[in-house]
Amino acid sequence: MKDMLRNIPSVNELLEYPPLKSLVHTASHNVVVSGVRSFLDNLRTNVQSSAAAMNIPTPSELAERIASWITAEQKLSLRPVINATGILLHTGLGRAPLAEEAIAAMSEVAGGYASLEIDLATGERSQRVVAVERLLTKLTGAEAATVVNNNAAATLITLAGVATGKEVVVSRGELIEIGGSYRLPEVMSASGAILREVGTTNKTRAADYSAAVSSNTGALLHVHTSNYVVVGFTESPQLHELIAIGRKHNLPVIDDIGSGALIDLKKYGILGEPIATDSIKAGADLVLFSGDKLLGGPQCGIIVGKSALIQKIMKHPLMRAFRVDKLTLSALAATLGLYQDPEVAERRVPLLSLLATPLDNLKNRAERLAPQLAATGGIATAEPVQDHAYLGGGSVPSQEIPTWCVALTPSKGNVNALAAALRTGIPAVMGRIKNDRLLLDLRSVLPGQDMLLVDALTAFAKPAAMTESLATL
Ligand SMILES: *Cc1c(COP(=O)(O)O)cnc(C)c1O
Repeated sequence: MKDMLRNIPSVNELLEYPPLKSLVHTASHNVVVSGVRSFLDNLRTNVQSSAAAMNIPTPSELAERIASWITAEQKLSLRPVINATGILLHTGLGRAPLAEEAIAAMSEVAGGYASLEIDLATGERSQRVVAVERLLTKLTGAEAATVVNNNAAATLITLAGVATGKEVVVSRGELIEIGGSYRLPEVMSASGAILREVGTTNKTRAADYSAAVSSNTGALLHVHTSNYVVVGFTESPQLHELIAIGRKHNLPVIDDIGSGALIDLKKYGILGEPIATDSIKAGADLVLFSGDKLLGGPQCGIIVGKSALIQKIMKHPLMRAFRVDKLTLSALAATLGLYQDPEVAERRVPLLSLLATPLDNLKNRAERLAPQLAATGGIATAEPVQDHAYLGGGSVPSQEIPTWCVALTPSKGNVNALAAALRTGIPAVMGRIKNDRLLLDLRSVLPGQDMLLVDALTAFAKPAAMTESLATL
């Protein structure tokens, strides 16, 4: 074993071999040196713990292997992906892409200091959400607003701030799970509020809420069942009925609307998504929604509603844990600014412009792209096909958005291997597999990214080209 350990070359020796030497130019010296060190450490541990003799590769083989290991490790980090899944609000891909205005606003405050909690007019300390509160109240008609890290945090802090130790009445049909880690009953229990379920999975009536109200009730909660639909023999109370009950018993009504559309998206075929303004107008005391779903802004949770309740929430100790930073606030303010004119929002908020893209445009793009993708040589066929895209991100599961895709069939290997290669390539592309073909759905591909799809297929067809593009990273 000692001999084997002695056969392992030194870091400095390995760094002289071409694969590692050239990697120093693309990654940094530190990255390469620490990569080589940890690879060798692992190798030594393996040698020491293995009973049988191990073959130590030659230094040049080792250098080759370590170089590709470091390259793979570097690639694992967060990097841009072309979303060709057709899922516009893909949570795994970071939900809504930001508007240019939002990016510019972030970059203006990112590299320096900003008036985050200082009122520049008086020089006094101010609230950090001032930057967005005025816009939020103006756009939703609410008295007050605040912002936290996401809608899960908004729900948690709202329940904690308004109803801790008290019962919160919710319909059994609205006990949602949004992705594995968000389950309403668990969020509720973490907040210290007590879940008081009423009704049944398919039928809950206003009278069920009335019957559940007692001196121990803290709030009534209405939740938009954004990622499922119950069909058939169903009944659920309207928000205005809950509001009437809340008024009668002097209890706050909280409306978790989920996606947080600020404008009606009916004309894009998105039906039944609650709009924050409507909820406020109906008289909800607190309305909660995400910033990075249909609003098309940065990840955050927005709480709008009655001033006294918002004040209570903002004083809760969790506020400090859930507060957003200057980047989120600046991006949100810029995005909300666009909504002051809905036509501007539709043009400038990427999520809305992706939704608004006419089907004919997508068809033209698919027809133009298909032969270009086929010409890269890595695939057997590329064919424009019509299909359905989805909003995703826990929004409107049953509504299909018409779209055009380019369907690829691999020239060798199976379609899963093609999908994996494009996913791990540069640029990274995620498509969706359907009937043994890889569909690149243009509904979710930003205009201007079409040529990057050609680049991705080129890199796939000619791995050498990939090394080159790696070198330019
Ligand atoms: C998405 C969603 C949530 C969770 O929001 P995040 O911003 O992902 O934390 C909560 N409630 C509803 C109704 C939702 O649709």
